[in-house]
Amino acid sequence: MKIHEYQARQLLASAGIPVPAGTVIESVEDAAGAFKQATAMQPSPLAVIKAQVHAGGRGKAGFVKLVKTAEEATAAARFMLSNRMKSPQTPAEGLEVTKLLVASAADIAQRRGGGNEEFYLAVTTDRKTRRNVLIASREGGVEIEQVAHDRPDAIIKEPLHPLLGLQRHQATTVAFALGFRGKQVAQATQIMAALAKLFVDKDCTLAEINPLIITPPTARHPDGEVLAIDAKFSFDDNGTFRHPDIQAMFDPTEENPAEAKARRFGLSYIALDGQIGCLVNGAGLAMATMDIVKLHGHGKGGSGGVEPANFLDVGGSATEEAVTEAFKIILSDQRVKGVLVNIFGGIMRCDVIAQGIVNAARSFVNPDGSKGFKVPLVVRLEGTNVDEGRAILKNAKAEVPTMQAATDLADAANKVVAAVG
Ligand code: GDP
Ligand code: MN
Repeated sequence: MKIHEYQARQLLASAGIPVPAGTVIESVEDAAGAFKQATAMQPSPLAVIKAQVHAGGRGKAGFVKLVKTAEEATAAARFMLSNRMKSPQTPAEGLEVTKLLVASAADIAQRRGGGNEEFYLAVTTDRKTRRNVLIASREGGVEIEQVAHDRPDAIIKEPLHPLLGLQRHQATTVAFALGFRGKQVAQATQIMAALAKLFVDKDCTLAEINPLIITPPTARHPDGEVLAIDAKFSFDDNGTFRHPDIQAMFDPTEENPAEAKARRFGLSYIALDGQIGCLVNGAGLAMATMDIVKLHGHGKGGSGGVEPANFLDVGGSATEEAVTEAFKIILSDQRVKGVLVNIFGGIMRCDVIAQGIVNAARSFVNPDGSKGFKVPLVVRLEGTNVDEGRAILKNAKAEVPTMQAATDLADAANKVVAAVG
């Protein structure tokens, strides 16, 4: 589960990490008021308007905007609420923006050699070392992905002790390595400690601040102030039941609609990038199906090979209705050029799946209004009631002309790859 930046800022603030104040608006009319509120205490008003969507890369896409007047705030809000946010982290069609954060903008100190004092700071789990890890860089901000790719040495990785977490000496070492000096060091180490603690306390899979900045010196902060001005959190879905405060931050409108629909029918659907829709039962069989589609699809069908477009796990006890829904969900993805059904009937009976396939084919309406499946469909059934299942499919051959039966998993993968390739 992910949350919005404004919610992430609330979490940071509750952990004692300094963030500029802000409010959330949902309409253009509220922009001027929110701007005045955000800049009330400032000698020269400067606010930042930020689209609240579950994706990064907003700055480069024009969905983070510094504004000096209420009129500029209104114009920025109008732009963001009436355009979809597109970045490398969003689907190609972009994301609808319904909420904006209007925050008081931070002044960012300049580095001696030029550039902003922007840092990257995150805690996540490193699967290789099987430890949580603090990741930090002096090259924070909108180019961090590029930096990580081109200059991996500019990224510091500090493994965290499984029980002790981030230790004081580690935080201090990282703070100095990042170039913090004077009173900044204590501020930065306190922020790192609080972030590492939040990560564990809230069952996060990612707790990220980017950028962490230094403000220019003031009378109150002669070395400048270290502030978080953007944050991103992801949580382990298996842990959210322990955190009603995190559950309350759930925003259903940010979910993949197909995944949300699947959940309502007790199905689990995962969208991927390829061309083959996969209907399977059980997580292990789903993984094996992904692997075998990739293996047999490698180098086929033009650029990049034939790959899974998604997988939909109907679980152990889906009804005919759920299987029918499963097909609708899979075929609602325009990228799906073929469907592979791979069922090993244990608790799930093959005849239920077969009847679900036939029902779905009967009731399925194509975008052009015609009825029935148009895409190639390859079915591999094995296990409980397999003979009944195969008989149902055989009898329905006329209704589902694009359907082929497969003898085993390799045969199924080959057939579906050949059908779309
Ligand atoms: P992202 O692009 O989605 O990660 O959005 P960010 O909130 O990180 O903003 C992108 C960039 O905009 C930052 O790296 C900053 O350079 C700039 N920016 C964002 N907020 C402020 C602010 O309050 N003051 C200033 N001066 N720049 C900001
Ligand atoms: Mn950012």
